Amino acid sequence: MREFAYHRAGEVAEALAAAAGGARYLAGGTNLVDLMKHGVETPARLVDVRFLPLRGIRETPGGDLVIGATTTNSDLAAHPEVRRRYPALSQAVLAGASGQLRNMATVGGNLMQRTRCAYFADLSEPCNKRVPGSGCAAVAGAHHNHAVLGRSPHCAATHASDMAVALAAFDATVRFETAEGAGEIPLARFYPPVGDTPERETALPPGALITEVVLPGAAISPGSRYRKVRERASYAFATVSIAAHLEVQRGSVRGVRIALGGVASHPWRARTAEVFLLDGPATAGRFRAAAEAELSAAAPLPGNAYKVTLARNLIAAVLEEIAG
Ligand SMILES: Cc1cc2nc3c(=O)[nH]c(=O)nc-3n(C[C@H](O)[C@H](O)[C@H](O)COP(=O)(O)OP(=O)(O)OC[C@H]3O[C@@H](n4cnc5c(N)ncnc54)[C@H](O)[C@@H]3O)c2cc1C
Ligand code: SF4
Repeated sequence: MREFAYHRAGEVAEALAAAAGGARYLAGGTNLVDLMKHGVETPARLVDVRFLPLRGIRETPGGDLVIGATTTNSDLAAHPEVRRRYPALSQAVLAGASGQLRNMATVGGNLMQRTRCAYFADLSEPCNKRVPGSGCAAVAGAHHNHAVLGRSPHCAATHASDMAVALAAFDATVRFETAEGAGEIPLARFYPPVGDTPERETALPPGALITEVVLPGAAISPGSRYRKVRERASYAFATVSIAAHLEVQRGSVRGVRIALGGVASHPWRARTAEVFLLDGPATAGRFRAAAEAELSAAAPLPGNAYKVTLARNLIAAVLEEIAG
C-alpha cells in the first residue's frame, strides 16, 4: 500500500488551492485509480473534483453548448441537444467503455485519460512516456494498435478517447482554471505533437483544472456520424475510428469535418481530406481520393500497416453513407 492524502473539494477555488504544490484531480477514478493500483501513477495527494458545481450542460444565447467538466459520459451521451445537434458525439461516447464506466467517467477525465499502450502500464518495460529517456518498448515489441500518423521515434502510443475524436471534429474548446486565472485551448491544440516529450500530453498549464468544454453552435450537424472499428463488438478501445460530418448541396460538398481516432497520439483532424473535398463533387471516387490523400502522410510501424488501409476505407465508407 502506498499512502496518499485525499481532499474532497466543494468549490473550484478550493480545488485549486488544495492541489497547489502537486496533486492529481480525481474525477470518476476509472482511469486514475487503475494506474495507481499498477504503481504507474503515484500521487501523494488526490483532490476529488466530483462534487464541484461543474456538472451539467447549458446552452448559451448564441447557441453554443457548454458542457461541465464533471458531467458524466452517460449524461453527455443522453442529452437531447447533444443527440439532436451533435449525434457523432453522442455515438462516440456510447461506443466507449461500458454502461457502468460511463456512469462514473467524466468529460474532464475522459480528455485526460492516459494511453492504453501496454508498456506504459508495465513497470518492468522501458517507456519514454512513463520514464522520460528510458526508451520505447513498443517500437520493437507489440505495436499492432499503435499510431500511424504524426508518430515520433520516441513514442507511438495512441490517445484512447472516443469522445475527444468527435469533439475535435466539431472544433470544441477546453476551458480551464488555474490559481493565476482562467484560460481556454481549442481542442485542435489541446494535445501537443509528441516530438521528444511524450510525457507532456496536454497543453494545460501545471495544476490546471478543466472546468468546461464548449461546442460551437455553428457546428450544428444533424448528419454527423461516429464509426468505431475495434477488436470486440463492445467494451474495447478503437483500432481506428472516425467522426464525420458532410453537407451536400446539389451534388457538391458545402461542408465537411473529419476526425480520426486510434491512429495518432491525439484525435487526428483530417484537414487534407477536408480541403480536397470542399466545393467538389460528392462522389464515391472523390471520397476515396480524399482518403488516399489524407493517409499519404502515414508512417506505420512494421506491425500496424493494416491501420492505414483500414482508416482509408473507413473515411470513404462513412462519407458515402452520410452522402446517401
Ligand atoms: C475497461 C475500460 C474500458 C474503457 N473503454 C473506453 C473506450 O472504449 N473509449 C474511451 O474513450 N474511453 C474508454 N475508457 C476510459 C474511460 O472512459 C476513462 O477511464 C474515463 O473517461 C476517465 O474519466 P474519469 O472521470 O474516471 O477520470 P479519472 O480516472 O478520475 O481521471 C483521469 C485523469 O484525468 C484527470 N482529471 C480528471 N478530471 C479532471 C479535470 N476536471 N481537470 C484536469 N484533470 C482532470 C485526473 O487527474 C487523471 O489524470 C475505458 C476505461 C476502462 C476502465
Ligand atoms: S509507445 Fe509510448 S507509451 Fe508505449 S512504450 Fe513507447 S513511449 Fe511508452
